[in-house]
Amino acid sequence: MTLIFDNRYAELGERFSVALAPDPPPNPEIVIINDALIKPLGLNDYSKEELLALFSGNSIPDGASPLAMVYAGHQFGGYSPQLGDGRGILIGQVEDIKKNLLDLHLKGAGKTPFSRMGDGRAVLRSCIREFLASEALYHLGIPTTRALSITTSDEPVRRETIENASLLMRVCESHIRFGSFEYFSYTEQHNELRQLCDYTIENHYPEAKKSRNPYDALLMAVCYKTAKLIAYWQAFGFAHGVMNTDNMSITGQTFDYGPYGFMERYDPYYICNHSDDQGRYAFNRQPAIGHWNCQALAQALAPLNTAGAAKDALHHYQDTFLTFYHTLMIKKLGLSSSIDNDKDLYEDLLDLLEGHRIDYTIFFRSLSHYSVGDGPSALSCIENCADAFVPWFDRYNERLRSESQTESNRHKAMCAVNPKFILRNYLAQVAIQNSEAGDHSELHNVHDILKAPYDEQPDHERYAKEAPDWGRNLQISCSS
Ligand code: AMP
Ligand code: MG
Repeated sequence: MTLIFDNRYAELGERFSVALAPDPPPNPEIVIINDALIKPLGLNDYSKEELLALFSGNSIPDGASPLAMVYAGHQFGGYSPQLGDGRGILIGQVEDIKKNLLDLHLKGAGKTPFSRMGDGRAVLRSCIREFLASEALYHLGIPTTRALSITTSDEPVRRETIENASLLMRVCESHIRFGSFEYFSYTEQHNELRQLCDYTIENHYPEAKKSRNPYDALLMAVCYKTAKLIAYWQAFGFAHGVMNTDNMSITGQTFDYGPYGFMERYDPYYICNHSDDQGRYAFNRQPAIGHWNCQALAQALAPLNTAGAAKDALHHYQDTFLTFYHTLMIKKLGLSSSIDNDKDLYEDLLDLLEGHRIDYTIFFRSLSHYSVGDGPSALSCIENCADAFVPWFDRYNERLRSESQTESNRHKAMCAVNPKFILRNYLAQVAIQNSEAGDHSELHNVHDILKAPYDEQPDHERYAKEAPDWGRNLQISCSS
């Protein structure tokens, strides 16, 4: 078994990327390997040394065609006309055992023509944060890129302090971003814009070819996938933190993890990115920002789209978001179908959770074991404010009584959508601190727990609890 390359993006030519090999930092070491991806990618015959060489950028496998991609993007609402891979290199596209074509992208692989003032490096802290979060979302069932490995080195890099240059190997369907289309559109390279759309349709949205205008269908399909993705984020309490258009994947996967945060106590105004002074990317603004970003994509595709296509696609975004979010919230409440007032039921619940600062994940997991008629005293997570929840539980009891499914089936269904384990910020922080001190065992522990977020895992009860006092409101550095 070996890696099977099919570097289709590289074949688009030099307007789309710059051919470039990684510049690996010295004395690399493995921090973690995601074993679940080794076999599907055809890496099971590689020795530890060969894997280290591959994951640290020291060996370029036969058939690879490493390159840095060009793109632009709207960052915090303002247009940056040229970004591009400033520290990541697409090693190549590989076919997995199911014949899916996947990007192998090495983040922290050194300077490129797009590095601007940057050093081309990533630090261990940011690699661990991406590794754990992408794995957490994947196992929750939320579309995301995945992480294959982290390696570190003894090359010093300057952030707030001196840290060690580290690399993350990311695996996903595509590194084409909304900003990739913006780049070709705003530089008026319309032939290239069309080429990029054709490539995207051919490889990621082949059904669009059947439409009268495939580019309209492409926009529609991307709006659909993006809306669905953001509905997941809202229902699971994930805040991305930097929804710039260069961080929006064209395949609708969660992409480019920076100062993200999982919601702990329910707060719709939660801002996980401490440099986001205006709260542009606050948790409750994500659906609107997703819409804004789709509009930016529509603007970029305008030279190829028919009149009215953008409007239709943006409506489709809204409808999809609302429908899908509603479906997820109904499931979280354990309702097998939806009736008129169900939206009020979860919206009023969210107001209560906000008002009483209740942990979002713990509440829904506790509710997953609820028996009709018990009332709020059955949930220890709201014991200090149970009275305030009485009227809501009266409505919930009445609603549950109108359901035909058995209680045990409801419990099972709810436990399959209300996770017990999420990546609490402090859990990532402990794993990072230990890893920075050379002990990667906690990183492995947290990774293992996040592989089964819906299981009870009684031996790991501690990881399902609220953060201890020191671990609340941690200021996560935005540098990476
Ligand atoms: P990000 O914040 O990781 O989404 O990156 C935004 C842009 O800045 C991308 O074009 C990155 O390639 C670039 N960038 C971020 N960090 C660095 C770095 N340390 N060196 C070079 N370019 C970087
Ligand atoms: Mg980015």
